Amino acid sequence: MQLSYWEKTEWLSGIDFTIIGSGITGLNCALALREKHPKSRILVLEKGILPQGASTKNAGFACFGSISELLDDLNTSTEEDMVKLVEKRWKGLQLLRKNLGDKKMDYRQYGGQELFLKGNPQFFEACLENIDRINGLLQPVFNEDVFTVKKNIFGFQGIQDRYIFTPFEGQINTGKMMQALLKLCSRKDIRILNATEVLDFKDTGNKVAVKTDRFEFSTEKLFIATNGFASNLLKEDVLPARAQVLVTKPLKNLKIKGTFHLEKGYYYFRNIQDRILFGGGRNLDISGETTIEFGETRIIQDRLEEILKTVILPGTSYEIDQRWSGIMGVGKHKDPIVKPLSGNVYCGVRLGGIGIAIGTWTGKELAALAD
Ligand SMILES: Cc1cc2nc3c(=O)[nH]c(=O)nc-3n(C[C@H](O)[C@H](O)[C@H](O)COP(=O)(O)OP(=O)(O)OC[C@H]3O[C@@H](n4cnc5c(N)ncnc54)[C@H](O)[C@@H]3O)c2cc1C
Repeated sequence: MQLSYWEKTEWLSGIDFTIIGSGITGLNCALALREKHPKSRILVLEKGILPQGASTKNAGFACFGSISELLDDLNTSTEEDMVKLVEKRWKGLQLLRKNLGDKKMDYRQYGGQELFLKGNPQFFEACLENIDRINGLLQPVFNEDVFTVKKNIFGFQGIQDRYIFTPFEGQINTGKMMQALLKLCSRKDIRILNATEVLDFKDTGNKVAVKTDRFEFSTEKLFIATNGFASNLLKEDVLPARAQVLVTKPLKNLKIKGTFHLEKGYYYFRNIQDRILFGGGRNLDISGETTIEFGETRIIQDRLEEILKTVILPGTSYEIDQRWSGIMGVGKHKDPIVKPLSGNVYCGVRLGGIGIAIGTWTGKELAALAD
């Protein structure tokens, strides 16, 4: 693409900070940089016409981990590391709420519950037995008991008659949250160029040369926030992980309100006003879902529909309105990789299934690497 003198001088010269990826991590990184460097030139490059990974595709759970997920994490990390991760998620959520305001993203703290299928009572018992332990571990973060037991008040079927509930979980309107973040960036003179894919970069010591599919330029510092697509630009322990969701048409007299988890977080559903959004099932085909291609598959959509019909909305007639997918980044560990790659290049990637909360915090940590 041939650039004019004006385009070169006003858009692509004297760039102090360039961020690759306009998801929740990249935009929060840009905002944190702006706070510390009010006069700098900040540029965000995004390959999609909208953010095209997970941040505009997710389920909008403002969550920090259900009890079974946290117990599962203890199989691969120490108690101290698990608590640290929850703390970052929790702080990230508070930061997101502070930066945008609850109203702008339609934040509602209805509470979150984990349901347990009837077929596996031992798993349910194990989670019940560990409530006090996990509450004790999380006491320094929340100063209150995080998990309690509640009766099945929503009439779900095929599950144990009680849920494990946390009042600290909420839900947001993901679209509104991302719109608000983008508007805030624009107000803070952070320039975002869409439909621009970064193909390569080179740290030359005092600058970074950046090659996109449209033009080349240089920047003082480069921040990579490309999550599930990270392996295109760097070699770290992060693989793409597709996640599929569906949403119903509006339902008459829908009583279900809140966010719900099933099977160690592999399934999740919530109300969006009077609709149900339901996603998950990646565990049915891990290798097939290790992809950067968007799309839905029969095996996963069929299982979602089966659970919707038999567990979530038994005896209710409903129609599916839309289906879509998004791409996350996962690896051996659940904590994000936030580190320098060279003197002037940094990355903040591997935001898994709880990225709304931790993405905000990761963006801030990523920006701080350049201090
Ligand atoms: C279906 C689904 C449901 C989810 N539900 C929840 C939930 O309820 N709660 C929760 O906390 N988390 C949820 N998540 C996870 C959460 O959405 C992610 O962890 C979070 O959005 C990650 O943000 P990010 O900015 O790091 O990555 P992304 O949002 O993926 O942003 C990365 C961006 O980089 C761009 N990019 C990539 N490569 C390049 C390149 N070479 N050049 C330019 N741009 C590039 C991509 O287009 C993308 O926009 C869900 C995810 C999915 C997919």
